[in-house]
Amino acid sequence: MTAVHYLDANATQPLRPAARDAVLAAFAVTGNPSSVHAAGRAARRVMEDAREVIAGGFGARAQDLIFTSGGTEADALAVHALGQGRRLIVSAIEHDAIRSAAAGAAIVPVDRHGVVDLEALGTLLSDGVPSLVCLMLANNETGVIQPVDQAAALCRQHGAVLHVDAVQAAGRMPVRLDRLNAHSLAISSHKLGGPAGVGALLLAPDAPFAAALIGGGGQERGRRGGTPTVALVAGFAAAARESATDDLRAVAALRDAAERAAVANGAVICGDPELRLANTTCLALPGAAAGIQVIALDLEKIAVSAGAACSSGKVQTSHVLKAMGMGALAGEAIRVSLPWNVTTGDIEAFAAAYERVAARLRK
Ligand code: PLP
Repeated sequence: MTAVHYLDANATQPLRPAARDAVLAAFAVTGNPSSVHAAGRAARRVMEDAREVIAGGFGARAQDLIFTSGGTEADALAVHALGQGRRLIVSAIEHDAIRSAAAGAAIVPVDRHGVVDLEALGTLLSDGVPSLVCLMLANNETGVIQPVDQAAALCRQHGAVLHVDAVQAAGRMPVRLDRLNAHSLAISSHKLGGPAGVGALLLAPDAPFAAALIGGGGQERGRRGGTPTVALVAGFAAAARESATDDLRAVAALRDAAERAAVANGAVICGDPELRLANTTCLALPGAAAGIQVIALDLEKIAVSAGAACSSGKVQTSHVLKAMGMGALAGEAIRVSLPWNVTTGDIEAFAAAYERVAARLRK
């Protein structure tokens, strides 16, 4: 059987061998990190070492990192814990993890390049109403990087709190909470090449954390109850450490090669072509429904997706591309996202497959 060329890293990354090794090693540790005895202390050491690595890597203090079950929970926790008594303001291109947690929020539009409108954000904030703003660092569908440092300056000027969803940005560009000057940052292990089922919310020292989302036994300094899966946390740290050494220039060169091949066959790039994550491109093929393109490429052993991966497996028109005013193209775009272990062979296979698929589907 021919190998699948996996180009859907923004859905999930392949597990890094170092992360798998760390998970397996930590599964051999028996204790509950809350227990006082030696077994508990051994488990706690694994967790606290991991906490140091991850917090240090993303510009936070170890005591300000809260382990969660993933990016979705980290976002929900931020909205719950920092949003108490505040109006919610979110960008039009946030992931459903934020959109569902912040139902009824005021929406900040984006321009046709997929970049958030800072003037509109400033106008919303100028009424002085205490607010929590949620803005992603990089969009999961287009890869477009948002001006989060400028948004943070605006928020601080108006006394608002800023939560940053860095789930897709982490590992694909330098990400540090202290440099962004935001109040909190969500990250997720499986987007870094670690195991799924673990993530973290990082807090700035002045983040107004009001209340936990999950109560329980006082774990995570009373900010997230429940016995953590120590092995997943260990794998998360290994992936975070290794992802910091990825050659992003090489990844970008391969992404550009894939993009050139697609554009030569009629594709249109969605989103700002410069201000993007190294591994992501969003390609619309006029006249060809996104879901059909994904299936046609799957038959060619190329794994890509139509916008965000969604649990029902159904392809919906992208709210991100709609917000960018892409019209019909919003239903005709696929996301190609290169994993940490992408090869030239993957991109050559994609280029050849895209040419065949586009010739059949293009109108
Ligand atoms: N935020 C963004 C931008 C994402 O792309 C995703 C997942 O695709 C999430 C949050 C949710 O992360 P998780 O899958 O770890 O729950």
